[in-house]
Amino acid sequence: MRYLSTRGAWRDAPQPFLAILLEGLAPDGGLAVPERYPAFAPGELEALHGAPYRDIAFDVLSRYASDIPAPDLKGLVARAYAPEKFGSEAIVPVEWLESGLGLLCASNGPTLAFKDVAMQLLGELFEYALAREGRRITILGATSGDTGSSAEVAMRGRRGIEVYMLSPNGRMSPFQQAQMYSLADANIHNLAVDGTFDDCQDIVKAIAGDAAFKRRYAIGAVNSINWARVAAQVVYYVHGYLAARSAPGAPVDVAVPSGNFGNILAAHVAKRMGVPLRRLILATNENDVLDEFFRTGRYRPRGAAETRATSSPSMDISKASNFERFVFDLVGRDAGRLRALWDDLARQGSFDLGGTDAWRGMADFGFVSGRSTHADRVATIRAIAARYGRVVDPHTADGLKVGLEQRDRDVPLLCIETALPAKFAATIREALGRDPDRPRAFDGLEARPQYRTVIANDAGAVRSYVASHAQPVT
Ligand SMILES: *Cc1c(COP(=O)(O)O)cnc(C)c1O
Repeated sequence: MRYLSTRGAWRDAPQPFLAILLEGLAPDGGLAVPERYPAFAPGELEALHGAPYRDIAFDVLSRYASDIPAPDLKGLVARAYAPEKFGSEAIVPVEWLESGLGLLCASNGPTLAFKDVAMQLLGELFEYALAREGRRITILGATSGDTGSSAEVAMRGRRGIEVYMLSPNGRMSPFQQAQMYSLADANIHNLAVDGTFDDCQDIVKAIAGDAAFKRRYAIGAVNSINWARVAAQVVYYVHGYLAARSAPGAPVDVAVPSGNFGNILAAHVAKRMGVPLRRLILATNENDVLDEFFRTGRYRPRGAAETRATSSPSMDISKASNFERFVFDLVGRDAGRLRALWDDLARQGSFDLGGTDAWRGMADFGFVSGRSTHADRVATIRAIAARYGRVVDPHTADGLKVGLEQRDRDVPLLCIETALPAKFAATIREALGRDPDRPRAFDGLEARPQYRTVIANDAGAVRSYVASHAQPVT
């Protein structure tokens, strides 16, 4: 399998998986996409029915990472998806609330959010690729909570990898802060910036835009546009489909709480590979850029000032970084057309596909959408607890709210559980009047010693910090 850029680069020289693994954007600013989707041949999908998660993972990932020898990839997958890391043999189990309505529980990994499924694999892949080439990397990132802890836990103690993670000082939940700052590994550096998440992101962008500095310290990223993360997420849609379908080939609907469009993009890719996912139900919170697009065809990313802080904070996005990959497919994989749309975005802040041929073809992709408010999420948490005795986090509640609105009783519906309620205790208290359960391993988390460096909201200060701690590679 080789990879193209959504904006046309690499057309004459498609790149292998290991070449795009450690890179961020393509040289033309586009995103890496596979040349074609490696569809399941007749019988191949059903042959995986009942197979262990790691076998499904190997089957799917070997189609995308075809330059990694099979025995090596098997080893990486087995380590990433060890049952003790995810609390069960199933790794991403399906839990039925009632007949035909299930949760696809993707949040049982070490940091209690679905991002662990991809990050655990990414940790293995990065270490493997760097060792093979005798390289090192300095990961520089910004987090509002979930991504940072998931990345740090996946990268802790790994050879060849140093992590510098910027977080907004005092603006994460006490649980999230403790999760990140209690890591004592020498290769993990927590920088608590006196500013907001957007400030943290701006600093990362400023430093990543300095080509000389980037080269000198081999600066890389683990952000949600990394193709390997998308590929890792395709696996649980294949696994979830096989666990939920009523008969071979019968359809299943999925509902996905969405922000950067990474999770639901994986559902789209699984569908393109021939997995009979019928409807992909996209759920947003009050930050409804994506709901607006799927209802109207107009894509208008918001500025930071228009982005609201909500009770499902991991979905508080103003633009969806993975969305470009879907639009590439929607316009028939025409890189010129895609580039023109992104030029419109840069020039006028939006584009509108409503009424175009591409928009008329939309039905084939199966997307429908909806949004929730804080009141909807609180009401959903209450209703699900009352009806099924199951506590869900506010992100999952958003997916359930929209999923149930769109539910068709003839087709099983899987709602993706994207975080455990223990991470968002305040909203659970508001809804249920009590604290959420907390997995054993997190007892006393907030009381553990914390390691972090408070730093000024200034790219220069962060740059000096990295320069005085990281080893240059050149
Ligand atoms: C990251 C995240 C999301 C959004 O997922 P995307 O892939 O960015 O669409 C939803 N819920 C939780 C809990 C998350 O951490």
